[in-house]
Amino acid sequence: MSAEILQNVDTTTRATDLDLPVLRKTLPNGQFGVFTSRPVLAGEVLIVMPRGELAASPDRFTVQVGVNQHITGDQLGLAKFLNHHCDANAQMVVVADVDAPTACALQAVRDIPANHEVTFNYLTTEFDMDEKFTCNCSSLRCYREIRGFRHLSPDSQQLLVKSSQVAPHLLLLLQQ
Ligand SMILES: [Zn+2]
Repeated sequence: MSAEILQNVDTTTRATDLDLPVLRKTLPNGQFGVFTSRPVLAGEVLIVMPRGELAASPDRFTVQVGVNQHITGDQLGLAKFLNHHCDANAQMVVVADVDAPTACALQAVRDIPANHEVTFNYLTTEFDMDEKFTCNCSSLRCYREIRGFRHLSPDSQQLLVKSSQVAPHLLLLLQQ
């Protein structure tokens, strides 16, 4: 995670529902997804997640922000409905300062037109997922079995690390 990206995340304010450029929609398969409500630019912060109370272990709705720290579904707001993509158009930026009111922010990694689904790569925050699944995204670099960073091959782990989207706790956990 590059320092410049972290500098773009305002950890002192919290987006209100009114200025969020994203909203929840129902997908054709009946599940929920998060979509842009207007065009967004690369680097824009789309959802800000408060630190709140963190869980020590994951469940299917948590987002991992530390070695034993997981934001729970009720703290995630709209982020609870973010779907996975192996070549996602947004990333989770974990805020390292444990005193900051923000634990994590979702940031666009490229320009996204209005009414497009916003996704992030679960493998960039989750070390060992509670609920694994097989990905069917059409990405050339699809990881297929989404079980957490821990379960990737060393080559795939290195590729993800080079993308600069891997949360710092995954590198710490890998060394343990
Ligand atoms: Zn995939």
